[in-house]
Amino acid sequence: MYVCGITPYDATHMGHAASYVAFDLLNRAWRDGRQQVAYVQNVTDVDDPLLERATATGVDWRELAASQIKLFQTDMEALNVLAPDNYVGAVEAIPQIVPAIESLVQRGLAYAVAGTAGEPDGDIYYDVEAAGKHSAEARDAWTLGSISGLSDAEMLELFAERGGDPGRAGKRQALDPLLWRVAREGEPSWPGGELGEGRPGWHIECTVIAQKYLPAPFTVQGGGSDLVFPHHEMGAGHAYSLTGVPLAKHFAHAGMVGLDGEKMSKSKGNLVLVSRLRAAGEEPAAIRLAILAHHYRSDWSWTDEGFAAAKERLKKWRAAADHAPAGSAVPLIEGLRAALSDDLDAPRALAAVDAWAAAAPAAGAATGSAVDAALVADAVDALLGVVL
Ligand code: ZN
Repeated sequence: MYVCGITPYDATHMGHAASYVAFDLLNRAWRDGRQQVAYVQNVTDVDDPLLERATATGVDWRELAASQIKLFQTDMEALNVLAPDNYVGAVEAIPQIVPAIESLVQRGLAYAVAGTAGEPDGDIYYDVEAAGKHSAEARDAWTLGSISGLSDAEMLELFAERGGDPGRAGKRQALDPLLWRVAREGEPSWPGGELGEGRPGWHIECTVIAQKYLPAPFTVQGGGSDLVFPHHEMGAGHAYSLTGVPLAKHFAHAGMVGLDGEKMSKSKGNLVLVSRLRAAGEEPAAIRLAILAHHYRSDWSWTDEGFAAAKERLKKWRAAADHAPAGSAVPLIEGLRAALSDDLDAPRALAAVDAWAAAAPAAGAATGSAVDAALVADAVDALLGVVL
């Protein structure tokens, strides 16, 4: 499994948290089913938003990245998200990214753009049309739109919204994404072989890291639903162009999280930050339960009521664990497994524990079964990542 990582310039908000908790559920379900899981995640530790934030705040970009990576990992650990086996930075992957881009250029699937309007010569772009033709006859081939299923008009709109540069002069197609940005005054850069000094684009970063650490194709590439296009679309194209096989067998996407019905965004200043909730003394297990009350694919809103309900639920579960009726653990575990194996139906899994908890005090009276209590606690931790 490969789950796209953060660009470390700001703290983990609830949308990030929900995404990583979703794929943590999958990781846990696979492990429970005795599968060997290799889990890889990148961190985009050099990119425009990071450099812009560093400049705006007068902090060295490397220090900003290091501090935000640390905060992210602390948040994830608090939320009981199992760590990836390989957590790989864009910067450390540059020695593998450069030859990959060189190979695309040599085979006519990428090209250099001449500088205009103050931009230097030599930025390298992926030729989506040439790449699509190159793979058109193969089975499981990639063509633009085959991952996202979007129309040209929809792709064009999203490309502009999500970091693409459809209007860049000299590109062959508006949707061609950046592979290599040549060095600019005041920006960090690295040796790029035939490409010249520069730094990598975002999509090729994930493709090259995934190809280095995982089989081809690997099982699931995950991320938030805003990564469907252009990020996963282009990354899949790059992979196909480089190796002739698909990047992943499945692409899975977690829904977006709003606040009180509004889209969460930095510009609106309405981000719910995991670190801020933790600093206010809120328990991470309750945050995790508030997330799990929603199916991973649905869009939902963080609300005070939802969070209060999650805290109440955690309290009820813990109270019930002291009175677990004998024989109640095995049916509950079967219910949890059935719910999670049905497209990670976390709300149904939570309802199963609710039902068990509601039955516990009446059936168990003052003394419960220690064996069942221990089994339920283990299962709720292992499958849902919630420590009772
Ligand atoms: Zn990615």
